[in-house]
Amino acid sequence: MKCRACGQQTESQSHILRECKTLHQNETSKITEADITTEDTDTLKETATKIEEIMRRLIAEPPGTTPAAGTAPADLGRGDAPPQPQ
Ligand SMILES: [Zn+2]
Repeated sequence: MKCRACGQQTESQSHILRECKTLHQNETSKITEADITTEDTDTLKETATKIEEIMRRLIAEPPGTTPAAGTAPADLGRGDAPPQPQ
């Protein structure tokens, strides 16, 4: 199954948690192995919040988000035609 965020890589746990470039545009949102395996409850709470945020974005972002292609610019009829060859 392809990642629902980037549509390019396989949607594995490690991809979603730290590898996806669509979900993680900076280092702070990434979840490391240590964030999950720690026994520090404050860190675990933070990790849970981060994962919730990632899941929200994963569902919200359609795959391959790109600016709408195929919409031709509508400013072609301005009247200033290029000079005609003689
Ligand atoms: Zn991805």
